[in-house]
Amino acid sequence: MRTVVTNATLIDCIEPVARERARLVIENGRIASITDADGPEVQGDVERIDVRGAYVMPGLWDVHIHPDYLSLADMPLAEQVALFGHRMMSALTESGIVGLRCAGAHHFMDVAWKRAFDSGQYVGPRLFAAGHFLTTTGGHFLTSGHALECDGPYGFVKAIREQIKNGVDHIKLNLSGGIMGPAWDRHWHSFLLEDELNAAFAICRNREFKVMAHATNPDAVRSAIRLGAHSVEHGYIMDDECIELFLQHQTWYVPTLAISHLTPGQAANEWERQWLAQRNLTPSLCCRADAAAEVHAHWFRKALDAGVKMALGSDIRPLKDAALLEMGLWARDGATPWQTLLAATKHAAMICGVGGDLGTIEVGKLADLIVIGANPLDDVNNVRRLQLVLKAGRIVSDKR
Ligand SMILES: [Zn+2]
Repeated sequence: MRTVVTNATLIDCIEPVARERARLVIENGRIASITDADGPEVQGDVERIDVRGAYVMPGLWDVHIHPDYLSLADMPLAEQVALFGHRMMSALTESGIVGLRCAGAHHFMDVAWKRAFDSGQYVGPRLFAAGHFLTTTGGHFLTSGHALECDGPYGFVKAIREQIKNGVDHIKLNLSGGIMGPAWDRHWHSFLLEDELNAAFAICRNREFKVMAHATNPDAVRSAIRLGAHSVEHGYIMDDECIELFLQHQTWYVPTLAISHLTPGQAANEWERQWLAQRNLTPSLCCRADAAAEVHAHWFRKALDAGVKMALGSDIRPLKDAALLEMGLWARDGATPWQTLLAATKHAAMICGVGGDLGTIEVGKLADLIVIGANPLDDVNNVRRLQLVLKAGRIVSDKR
């Protein structure tokens, strides 16, 4: 099975340029060659896709997602599982999101959907599963339906072993509070005792499972990095030592700007206003987000300027809107379109451990691609002008 994509303006996410009149040959789901349009015609039985000069780039990723937080009383479990699958599939077809990393889900529905997508039962994004969100009694995100309250070193160890047994890809460990939550859940508080932290990280090290660490204050960020976290999520408040540690340990940072930036007081465009109109955030959440936003933006820029490894994760829903909004926020906080595109493609695939197969357009890599109608290097919001989505070289969405 061969596909030829012709008349492409190629953004490979290796070099920050758009290469005109490129031709891609895809064989068995992988990129077989990249040439310019003037080369010899590809002969034989091929599917030809003429994109008429449109921009071809790697598909987008969101490396911090959750299913909708509905309590079981609101919606039966089976419907929640189905809704989660629907949300992920529409992220692929509506917005060109080809990869997702989960940050917590109940009943291992992320593992189930990952298997369903991998086996080809359904066409969805590439999914990396976390299982439960592991926190303490009185910890963070207890209303999500997927937080597991663990206490004491062996409480954490047992929970981590259970996640491993159920097929997750990585462990989501909560080290500190958050912006949303009751009065006792504050993002400047750390939640775990040293013994709990040491045990949790030790068992993950022994079993070679990466830790995706929710850390929102300098103490939690430092602990996470020093103990060997693969990625630090949020980092709302940091300090210079945190930035140093990120660089020293080559730890990933996923800033989730959407959590502190998307409030009625900060909305800066129609997409954000539309999203807010649908979400109906509580006034207390908006207050806490507004209060945290400036410091968050400051440390985001510090990390970016220092060259910390960063990938794009939204932490919001619905998934078809989430990554696009987060990309707009990166740009607003000072990231260049190129930095933002890398975070949503190459770096996102790397944080998931699949940088060798995905995230850029290179010979040998899987052809998970999007075709868009305007140059995202000029304005990153141009990724919204989606025309085609290809997964492993097959068109899975055609909006032309
Ligand atoms: Zn999260």
